[in-house]
Amino acid sequence: MNGPPDEPKDVTQTQETPKRGVPKPGPSAPKPPMPEPPSEETGPRLVDSPPPATQAPVLLRAQQRILEILVAKEELGDVLDEVCLLFEETVEGSKCSIMLHEQVTHQLRMGAAPSLDEDFKRAMEVVSVGPQSASCGAAVHHGKTVVAEDVASNRIWRDYREQAAEAGLRSCWSIPLRKAQPDPRGERRIVGTVDFYFEDVRQYTASQLEILTAASDLASCVLHNTQTRVSLNERQHYDSLTDLPNRGLYTQRLRQLIEDAKSQSKDSQLRFAVAVVDLDDFKEVNDTLGFQMGDLVLQAVGQRLAGCLHESDTIARSGSDDFLLLIQGLDKDFDVGVIAEKILRRVNDPYDFDGYPLYVTASMGISVYPWDGDDAQILLRNAETALVSAKERGGSSYEQFRPTMARNRPTVERWFEQTRLASQLRGVLHRDELELYYQLKYADDRVTVCGAEALLRWQHPELGLLLPNQFLPLAERMGLTVPFGEWCLETACRQNKHWQEQGLLHFPVSVNVSPLQFRHGQLLSSIERTLQVSGLDPKYLELEIIERLAMEDNQHNQQRLDALHDLGLCLSIDDFGTGFSSLSYLSRFPFDTIKIDRSFIKEIGTGNDRDKDSRNIVLAIISMARALSIKVVAEGVETEEQVDFLFQNECDVIQGFYFARPEPAEKVTVTLQKVLESRMPLSEAARRA
Ligand code: C2E
Ligand code: CA
Ligand code: CA
Repeated sequence: MNGPPDEPKDVTQTQETPKRGVPKPGPSAPKPPMPEPPSEETGPRLVDSPPPATQAPVLLRAQQRILEILVAKEELGDVLDEVCLLFEETVEGSKCSIMLHEQVTHQLRMGAAPSLDEDFKRAMEVVSVGPQSASCGAAVHHGKTVVAEDVASNRIWRDYREQAAEAGLRSCWSIPLRKAQPDPRGERRIVGTVDFYFEDVRQYTASQLEILTAASDLASCVLHNTQTRVSLNERQHYDSLTDLPNRGLYTQRLRQLIEDAKSQSKDSQLRFAVAVVDLDDFKEVNDTLGFQMGDLVLQAVGQRLAGCLHESDTIARSGSDDFLLLIQGLDKDFDVGVIAEKILRRVNDPYDFDGYPLYVTASMGISVYPWDGDDAQILLRNAETALVSAKERGGSSYEQFRPTMARNRPTVERWFEQTRLASQLRGVLHRDELELYYQLKYADDRVTVCGAEALLRWQHPELGLLLPNQFLPLAERMGLTVPFGEWCLETACRQNKHWQEQGLLHFPVSVNVSPLQFRHGQLLSSIERTLQVSGLDPKYLELEIIERLAMEDNQHNQQRLDALHDLGLCLSIDDFGTGFSSLSYLSRFPFDTIKIDRSFIKEIGTGNDRDKDSRNIVLAIISMARALSIKVVAEGVETEEQVDFLFQNECDVIQGFYFARPEPAEKVTVTLQKVLESRMPLSEAARRA
């Protein structure tokens, strides 16, 4: 017995040489009875490591086995289990555990103990490091091997004594595991312990200690090797630029979530959204600002996206400028639109890089479990299909998957077609293949030309005349709509000025603005330059901005629109009725004109259910515009019935095939000349031409 109870043993006194003698073989007998509370407690035996072990055959065999285990097993837990079993074979009658040291909490956590009683394992799940904290906690505390020959009477086992007795354990030796590589101060950090338990009071021999120390070195190597492998493995799952999970990890989580959802009852069914987010003008950023800036933008976008999500959601970077979101916890009447708009608005907010504002926009495709698929691949594919659809709308928008979209999925042929077209599209400006067509607009006297819309065409050398929907979505994705837009502005302004100089009618020509161009930041200056160069009075230039883009509710939008309006040109909201404008937005923004979307006009006169609805919508738009003193234009007007309905209900201007089709400038010139010469109603002149 060493010293009085509870008094820690003097460390120098405990650094004894091990007792010699042959160890008793461990009994395989039934558990011993619960020990009586000790009348007198002992302290632990602290042992310095012996010199490097002689290469006993048993160790060589162990080494060999450990190598085999390392090759065969993947998971850290499996490897450690195997190593424990190997040690148990090596030290007769022992049950082995490996505790792992957690640096942050300074606690030991059970890593493996394949032969120990489950209750005891639970009791030892987490052990704090300290001189009285069982053999393992004390071993880490002292940095030495700690031997408690009789757990029942050793004071360091006071907190765990009962559990040890219930598990039939009587002795415990714990050996610190150290990192193989010393740190900069030359110390080998402790990473855990190997613990040998015996069912009897067990003393150790010098040769055993040698074996144990060598074994602990092997265990350290195993730990190091497996942990490195684990962290390498982890790194394989993350994107190095943004530190976000990659597509592989995302897919794993998605699969897991689907599995969980499938195991739940129908009533409590989980719903979650898979969203693919793709930056609209990323190539532009890379091309104009360089890859370094591109990297910063991607990191910033990743952070913003992550900031929009809840803890339980997942964000991953999947490709160059693609992100994947997994949005969970959707309740019964969730609204994908609300979530998507919130996220897109956040991404679209200007970025500040060293005081320079930068505008980036994104599009989003969404699929929802369980409706849009019950398999990870299908959900991802459907979200990507929806993304393509959002891109085709000009970007900066979202689409939720609809089964009809699947029919438009790009086929391999279409893909080849698109890549060919893409390479040809790059050179169209140099090759002078773009052309503007003009479609005249008419006032309610049905004869006065009061405007024209400039519409882009591509004179393709092999395919002939291409319409905007055949190449503009691709151009937008390629970032080409900015230079195209500038070309349109210049051409339209010059043409209009030219008509005026020829003594023809004076009317505003409207030019469509692409999302990229609108947010580009240089729209204002390029318009100023164009007006100056062409000498066109600003009131003869009109910009058509689609409703979704025009109504973006942010401070920059308001400033941008005000600045454009201050130049003296007209602003028009295109495709009105397809977005979500509110009266308050409309009154706040400086718009002169609303163009009712042609989908409503198309229904008028069809006599079907939607005919009446469309008429009502048109009437509502006209009365709202009246209240705000905004002019109304109807587009896509093809029939007399439509013209009658519109003009009878105070629509100001009509554009459509009924009066005129989009035509090349020369043809429009001829029409305008004829109008002047004959002074006859233009519709008549057009028919004769
Ligand atoms: P939008 O701005 O709504 O242009 C009106 C479209 O309606 C034009 O199609 C025009 O040809 C068509 N249209 C006019 N009257 C009728 C009619 O009576 N019936 C029918 N069915 N259609 C009619 P287009 O020229 O194919 O242009 C399609 C879209 O492409 C335009 O829609 C606009 O969003 C875009 N776009 C055209 N030119 C440009 C451009 O220079 N820049 C940009 N950013 N977008 C353009
Ligand atoms: Ca338009
Ligand atoms: Ca339109």
